[in-house]
Amino acid sequence: MDSDQSDHGADVEVAIVGSGYAGLCMGIKLRERGIADFVILEQNAEFGGTWRVNSYPGAACDIPSHLYSFSFAQNADWSRKFPRQPELLAYAEDIVRRYRLAPHLRLGHGLLAADYDEARGRWRLRTAHGELSARNLVLATGGLSRAALPALPGLDSFAGKVFHSARWDHGYDLRGKRVAVIGTGASAIQFVPEIAPLVAQLDLYQRTAPWVLPRPDRAITAAERWLLRRLPPLRKLYRLLTYVRYESRYLVFAGPSWLAGVAARLGRRHLRRQLPHDAALRARLAPSYRPGCKRMLLSNDYYPALARANVGLHTCGIAAVRPRGIVGADGVERAVDAIIFATGFDVEHALGAVAVRGRGGALLADAARGGLAAYRGATVPGFPNMYMIAGPNTGLGHNSMIYMIESGARYAVEAVLARRRAGWRALEVRDDVCRQYNQRLQARFKGTAWASGCRSWYLASGGRNSALWPGFTFEYRRITRRFDAPAYVATSAHLEEGHRAL
Ligand code: NAP
Repeated sequence: MDSDQSDHGADVEVAIVGSGYAGLCMGIKLRERGIADFVILEQNAEFGGTWRVNSYPGAACDIPSHLYSFSFAQNADWSRKFPRQPELLAYAEDIVRRYRLAPHLRLGHGLLAADYDEARGRWRLRTAHGELSARNLVLATGGLSRAALPALPGLDSFAGKVFHSARWDHGYDLRGKRVAVIGTGASAIQFVPEIAPLVAQLDLYQRTAPWVLPRPDRAITAAERWLLRRLPPLRKLYRLLTYVRYESRYLVFAGPSWLAGVAARLGRRHLRRQLPHDAALRARLAPSYRPGCKRMLLSNDYYPALARANVGLHTCGIAAVRPRGIVGADGVERAVDAIIFATGFDVEHALGAVAVRGRGGALLADAARGGLAAYRGATVPGFPNMYMIAGPNTGLGHNSMIYMIESGARYAVEAVLARRRAGWRALEVRDDVCRQYNQRLQARFKGTAWASGCRSWYLASGGRNSALWPGFTFEYRRITRRFDAPAYVATSAHLEEGHRAL
């Protein structure tokens, strides 16, 4: 793959930012509809996004393999019910090969700045490898890309090893080390059981006990794979039934409260069964908020790992970091050789240092303060010809993100085509339409688990949920099926030479 390819000065129809599943999907869908003039900009040296970057031990997905894959590229050969990171990455690699995306990939081309040129109706992009211009800018950067590191007092003075779960240092040998892990979210509960048997001592700092449910994972047998390969209708039916089963979990989050009660009972029973002999430990692991308010976790080996003699669960909070250890709020200093942050991601500032400037120089980062309000998760007033895949309020707590990605990509492709067909210079979502859409959307959180009062990455500063989709996923599919031009202001102007309308 040619990662040195430079697009200096190039004009493309579409520039996609991010080469995770969302960026790859967008590329495939564009080509399917006859647009081959696109590039996929990727800041890392390799494509794959989340499933390339999150390579920590035990990394896996909580959605079944047969559902966590593209509808148009189903795979009969998943080895397990729940896919692990290496297999998800291999799937992404296969997708790039099968759909011949390599010539479009610009690896190591991190986007540094994007400026909308109103006169030309084009985006001027500055990357680590030069400049290019694009009629349409598609942000497929996802919300979980910017590692969040808490500013613990004294952290700079720490003399040992420090890394974040999303930047796992595979060169650092954990064997025999004293390790502190901070955080007990989806990432931590996957790698803690993996590293606990290797390290001399593991101090796990828990701020909030998560809800953990059984993980019904198992290998998919050779006979099952054979059947799924030989009988595509069976594979499709299996995928559909899996979708329906996971979709019904939405009711735990937004349905009658007795369903949340059922989930809570399952969680408490799981805890009791996994740690039958340690009531004191169970008490510290018992969640105190409504299930689903934060991401519900699936694991069969997390609780047992905490019962190991070399693992300590600390719920006291962290007062400070010293050169050779961590001082808990209980005043005790515990010596450690390494600190691993499993503290999640900064969703509100996901775009980080990338300056995306829309009409009149407005900064996307400013619009995102307090949580970005987008229309159908895709478009933002003031940012013409810009689309997001897996954008604001499209995240899920209950079903496959791939379904949302495919929906969003379809909407963006339809918009790109609509503009070309009509010969418009630009399309920009109407401010009033976006505002009303968000009012209705926010109202749907009322009474759901997500609005039941816990602190989570779903909520931006100020408490607005700009991460999650508050409905059934098929509702999002329905509103992204077609591009709704009346919701947009179209700037009609004669097109520049070389860019004829279709
Ligand atoms: P996360 O769910 O945001 O968890 C971060 C953890 O760090 C929480 O336990 C949090 O405690 C704790 N924390 C944050 N700041 C802290 C501080 N200053 N002091 C002490 N503790 C602190 O992050 P994540 O585990 O990386 O997961 C992020 C998301 O990625 C998930 O929700 C999920 O959507 C996705 N993911 C999915 C999978 C999967 O499919 N299995 C696996 C990994 C990640 P509080 O709860 O008190 O805030």
